[in-house]
Amino acid sequence: MTPVKDIVGAMTAASKEDVALVEKAYELSKKAHEGQTRYSGEPYFVHAAATAKVLAEYGMDATTIAAGLLHDAIEDGRISREEIEKEFGKEILFIVDGVTKLGTHKYRGAERHAESLRRLLVATASDIRVLIVKLADRFHNMQTLEHVPENKRRRIALETLEIYAPIADRLGMGRMKRTLEDLAFPYVDPDAAQHTAEVRKLKTKETEDGLAQVQKTLKQELAKKGLTTFRTDIRMKGLWSLHKKLQRKNDDISLIHDIAALRIIVPTVEDCYTTLGIVHSLYRPLPGEFKDYIAFPKPNGYQSLHTTVVTPEAGIVEIQIRDEEMHRHAQFGIASHMSYKQLGKNIEKLDKGIQKSRFSALSFSWRSLIPSLMKVTKDNDETRGKTTVPLWLAELAEAHADIGGSEEFVEGLKEDFFSHRVFVFTPQGDVIDLPATSTPIDFAYAIHSDLGDHLQGAKVNGKLVSFETNLGNGDVVEIIRKDSAHPSAKWLEIVRTSLARRHIRNALGMTEPTPPSRRHVRRMHKDKS
Ligand code: MN
Repeated sequence: MTPVKDIVGAMTAASKEDVALVEKAYELSKKAHEGQTRYSGEPYFVHAAATAKVLAEYGMDATTIAAGLLHDAIEDGRISREEIEKEFGKEILFIVDGVTKLGTHKYRGAERHAESLRRLLVATASDIRVLIVKLADRFHNMQTLEHVPENKRRRIALETLEIYAPIADRLGMGRMKRTLEDLAFPYVDPDAAQHTAEVRKLKTKETEDGLAQVQKTLKQELAKKGLTTFRTDIRMKGLWSLHKKLQRKNDDISLIHDIAALRIIVPTVEDCYTTLGIVHSLYRPLPGEFKDYIAFPKPNGYQSLHTTVVTPEAGIVEIQIRDEEMHRHAQFGIASHMSYKQLGKNIEKLDKGIQKSRFSALSFSWRSLIPSLMKVTKDNDETRGKTTVPLWLAELAEAHADIGGSEEFVEGLKEDFFSHRVFVFTPQGDVIDLPATSTPIDFAYAIHSDLGDHLQGAKVNGKLVSFETNLGNGDVVEIIRKDSAHPSAKWLEIVRTSLARRHIRNALGMTEPTPPSRRHVRRMHKDKS
């Protein structure tokens, strides 16, 4: 059992109040889960405490850590929502509620729907901190997956691989992504996992000694240029990503040059380029293998210089060069920018606008996103080329930089981020991704034209509904089909997607083109269908 002092000890820059908050949540969670056990036979509270420790290690604030301690307390414990709100306030209740909601969307294994489900989860979360608590929760669940009944293991492992690891990647949390993948891999494909582990082991022995030599040589050369405050380490490629790469290279290990990489972490960006110069003058680089992710960060915000060189000591070696901040980002991603307190001042102004806006339910999300977004837009002119948030967030900010008032800013963000699409389920659990304000008719046509053409009725979450009903995120939609049923002209007024409209017109034998005004509206909403 993780003692509370371990959680507090892992926190960064915790104030007295922060510590008190975490201690209070720790005690309440312990009480809530008293007498409950996990599949492993351990007390349930072990899981809550372990989740909180992961969050502390990722540098999350006290609020998020407290929410992590309480994340299962309502669902599995004997604590009411009212009690959490009374003792800890709306913000912590909001995060706990969000995590609970996420748990209701389960991956049932259709890979083609994985992207939709990922987007649904991001939309459901509506606050980055909800996702991060969920990732920490999953992290501990994966570590104890062996105790879970066998028939559930594979589904959970697959969900981790297809849904949660990509979300971690999207948030720039490289270490989280790799760990989740490698924990899941053996449950998803035991044979491939074993094969990959053996391949990596062989290769490791071969390269380790050589890399130690390269490390030594580099140290001497860097010192000659006055670079003495740096550190190096050797990184082994994750098993799952090695497996994927082996598949792409026809299982030919000799074509993979980044099984082991030498990482050099230096104090400044300038040092990164100096070090690169030294590396290239010592060892011949492979053409086409050099990548400057400092000048051109990856979409998730990852920054580093990558080069692959031929060394006499260890053969072909990938070398990664970055500064401390980039290193922190590579490991912890967006979590490494989650210090709300320092950023508090920036948001005060915006906060007022948000509270007035119609989207108060989402305001927590904007409170967490906007400070970082503001920072990026402000730092844009700086030549260091440092992105302080993942690029996908930065791009969002940029797209809205020309919008004046905070209210429009927030509305615009909401449009882009959450409200363009709704994600609904078939009774079998497949996720269908539709434009907002879609109806059961759109849903039927999205599945199959025959289903739309013979649509008799629709149930949403088990209840019969009218065809005008707007579907909402997470709705389970069941279509009732009847041979004698046919589309009516009235449907054209109701449907949202051009796909449905086209099929209805066809079925009605109509041939004239869609009125221009309607087409215009559809384009503005980026209707993909
Ligand atoms: Mn949990």
